[in-house]
Amino acid sequence: MAKSKFEYVRLFEAEDRCLPNTWIVVRVDGKGFHKFSTEHGYEKPNDIKALSLMNRAATSVMEEFKDMCLAYGQSDEYSFVFRKETQAYSRRSAKLSTNVCSLFTSAFVYYWNEYFPTSKPRYPPVFDGRTVLYPSNQNIRDYLSWRQADCHINNLYNTTFWALILKGGLTPTEAENKLKGTLSGDKNEILFSQFAINYNTEPEMLRKGTVLVRRKVPVVLPNGGTREKSQIVQEHVDIIGDEFWNTNTHLLTV
Ligand code: ATP
Ligand code: ATP
Ligand code: MG
Ligand code: MG
Ligand code: MG
Ligand code: MG
Repeated sequence: MAKSKFEYVRLFEAEDRCLPNTWIVVRVDGKGFHKFSTEHGYEKPNDIKALSLMNRAATSVMEEFKDMCLAYGQSDEYSFVFRKETQAYSRRSAKLSTNVCSLFTSAFVYYWNEYFPTSKPRYPPVFDGRTVLYPSNQNIRDYLSWRQADCHINNLYNTTFWALILKGGLTPTEAENKLKGTLSGDKNEILFSQFAINYNTEPEMLRKGTVLVRRKVPVVLPNGGTREKSQIVQEHVDIIGDEFWNTNTHLLTV
């Protein structure tokens, strides 16, 4: 097509290609979900339907981007890990984060009804997105450990905070004051002695978040035989220790 005299303005666009041979993570996080969760009647401290909707939206993203090897989600956030060698969008940072974030957000709305059948979103939800590069396997593991440790710390706090309010009759301010300066052992103790809750038996999805990986699962064919098919599966497991990585060596090796 013939170029117009205006074409030169394209030169104003900044180059933003990600360094080659580097893990690319795109993380999305809900904007103002403290308010969004309240306004949409999320159960406190954890609404399972809302987390399941997040997992459904993230699955749509992984179905679209074949070069993603793993995703990890908790609360109102999801991290998507691209293979080191991916050439998706020529590794252009903004293309990656905006396409992932946009698909995640639209899938969140698209599937809303399957998880909240009696209500519509009261306003369009917003997620932010960012691209971050991690050069070494240790860095990418530490990144994922950071997010899972965050999940654990927040969930233990929120579980205790809401037990004090919903079961202990405290006001939010009183609950906050009671938890000020407490260590995780103290919170476990409050849960156990005051509310007979053993934190370690709380659902794994809440304590560990959700890992999405591709696994070969057998599918039954019309003729009765079986075939292996790659599927995106959800796991609620520890990804900080070595066990997950030792049993999934393909994730970090090229
Ligand atoms: P920001 O725009 O800075 O991200 P935010 O209000 O979204 O602000 P976050 O730190 O991202 O703050 O925290 C998300 C909040 O959303 C949680 O603290 C919690 O109140 C709420 N939330 C998210 N998911 C759930 C859920 N499944 N059940 C209950 N509450 C949830
Ligand atoms: P890419 O993902 O690279 O942007 P694309 O298919 O979106 O690929 P564009 O160059 O953005 O390609 O062009 C958008 C195309 O969408 C148009 O060429 C046209 O075919 C179609 N399209 C967009 N808006 C309309 C519309 N209002 N009516 C009919 N066709 C439309
Ligand atoms: Mg935030
Ligand atoms: Mg948020
Ligand atoms: Mg968040
Ligand atoms: Mg287009």
